[in-house]
Amino acid sequence: MPEYTITLDRGACDGIFACLVRDDRFVEREDGLAGIEGEAADGTEPTEATVTATFDDDRLADAEQAAAACPVDAISVTEEGNL
Ligand code: SF4
Repeated sequence: MPEYTITLDRGACDGIFACLVRDDRFVEREDGLAGIEGEAADGTEPTEATVTATFDDDRLADAEQAAAACPVDAISVTEEGNL
């Protein structure tokens, strides 16, 4: 299974939460913007404006649907080692 990384630009996120219904690893944070559920992540690296989480599971399609649903393109999904 390919490893993949989800990146969430919290600076771009507008709190519309289209992502949450596509992939339940996205959660609403107290500040009204989205985050990625840390417990489900393997190596979560929160920074001031960007959150990344790397996964090695069969849920790549869910993440890609969430990214496609985001109206401000705040989510990107990168597959590792499969370019
Ligand atoms: S869909 Fe995009 S803008 Fe809306 S909460 Fe998710 S990341 Fe933020």
